[in-house]
Amino acid sequence: MNQALVQDVVAEVMRRLGSRTSSSNGGLRAGEDAPANEGLRREAEAHPHRIDVPVGQYGIFADVDKAVTAATEAQQKLMKLSLDDRDAIVKLVKQMAKDNAVAWGKMEYDETKIGRLDHKIEKLRILELVPGVEFLKTNATTGSNGVCLEEFAPYGVIGIITPVTHSVPTLSANVINMVASGNSIVANPHPSASNCAAYCVREYNKAIAAKFGIEHLITIIVPPTLETADAIFNHRGIQLLVVTGGPAVARAALAAKKRAIVAGPGNPPVVVDETACLENAATSIVAGAAFDNNLLCIGEKQVFAVESIFDKLMSKMENAGGYILNAEQIERLTKVAFTLDPKDGKYHVNKGYVGKDASVLAEAAGVRVPPATQLLVGETDYGHLFVQHEQMMPFVPFVRVKDVDAAIDLAIQSEHGYRHTAIIHSRNMNTVTKFGRRANTTLFVVNGASPSGLGLGGQGYLSYSIATPTGEGITTPLTFTRYRRVMITGSLRMI
Ligand code: NAD
Repeated sequence: MNQALVQDVVAEVMRRLGSRTSSSNGGLRAGEDAPANEGLRREAEAHPHRIDVPVGQYGIFADVDKAVTAATEAQQKLMKLSLDDRDAIVKLVKQMAKDNAVAWGKMEYDETKIGRLDHKIEKLRILELVPGVEFLKTNATTGSNGVCLEEFAPYGVIGIITPVTHSVPTLSANVINMVASGNSIVANPHPSASNCAAYCVREYNKAIAAKFGIEHLITIIVPPTLETADAIFNHRGIQLLVVTGGPAVARAALAAKKRAIVAGPGNPPVVVDETACLENAATSIVAGAAFDNNLLCIGEKQVFAVESIFDKLMSKMENAGGYILNAEQIERLTKVAFTLDPKDGKYHVNKGYVGKDASVLAEAAGVRVPPATQLLVGETDYGHLFVQHEQMMPFVPFVRVKDVDAAIDLAIQSEHGYRHTAIIHSRNMNTVTKFGRRANTTLFVVNGASPSGLGLGGQGYLSYSIATPTGEGITTPLTFTRYRRVMITGSLRMI
């Protein structure tokens, strides 16, 4: 990690916090925005690393109406620029994310206190894999009757909701895709990751304003609340919703009265059969499940391994950086990792353990693990809470099954119909085909780690919004366009 960069950020933050105490309104434009700035001030005091973001400038708004008005004007300005200019904005955003990956990754890590700093940084560096204007190819057909052009037009203003698990990466990838296709944005970030998102929005807008004269291409609501999310869902000035998050927000977006693209939850199962390369399976499971402490929605969450190779696979897991918990230790960990809600009588994931390091989970399990341990694993039965819940922790339960058909059945059941991601390690193409067809997930990864499904160590492009219940899949600039046809009848046929 680049310590000098991190120190620069800390120094900058301290400078800003110092200047805020001497200037009472911190760049506030309108008196009615004062409560929002007051909220930011209180948050900043509670978290000394936080950065003051004055309301009303460079895309920062407390009020959804004002943000929509500013984003609408910005989108109209964007439409007056050339496609080359849009391309330049997208490249600017990618470059800024890469140049600031260490500082911004640290900012997000400090604010959310979940995941791993090295992976927070990596998630920003790889934003260059997110596609831009090159995806907007016009289709043309010519014939006896003239020329038919199919083009991809923007929606206008898009309302986005982003998760705590990847706040700046999701926001930035959405910006790249959506601006490439000519849209502007109103963002409602997760409240626990809103300051880092607002900071980046301001930096992006500052750079875009300096070069292209548009100040509010990306707007963000601070502080974000369920009410502001609701205002975005219902605002007439917003043409499209794009929601990345868990079951509650996915349901809310699907119930909205306007079109919603929903990147919802997952619970990715892994099947390992007797033909698999066990070394590769173990290395891949550790690489995928330990990434950002298993915060990725595509990350390996539970493994179904056939009896004949089960014990051998477990010993390979140890060699690959995993640590095996025994039944007693798993029991202790489960008691703290899930809480029973007396109101609904159901177990829920304890957010205090989501995205924490393997060593923290190990301590809860009553064991000290070597510092290099990335992932905890252990044998459980199918009904175990760690199998059934999308737990987002670096502990992966392994279920022993009699054969691959049983593994496929249970894997599909444990995915709960999200149709998000499934993974298999097998050299038997009939088995791979059977599981792929039956699982019918948006991402299906064969003989690799889950991130390879998003272009990391695999082929293809990246997005942090994988639209599952609404079916758009790994989102691209085309996802955020309206199809338009231009038919030039009887003219322009040159052959
Ligand atoms: P979360 O559902 O708690 O929050 C996501 C966002 O929705 C936040 O901004 C939150 O403030 C907002 N929100 C929550 N309930 C809402 C409601 N009723 N109305 C309006 N807004 C609401 O999820 P999280 O913990 O931030 O992120 C993890 C979840 O997101 C996991 O379930 C993960 O699988 C999913 N996720 C999916 C993808 C994908 O591409 N499919 C990507 C990242 C994360």
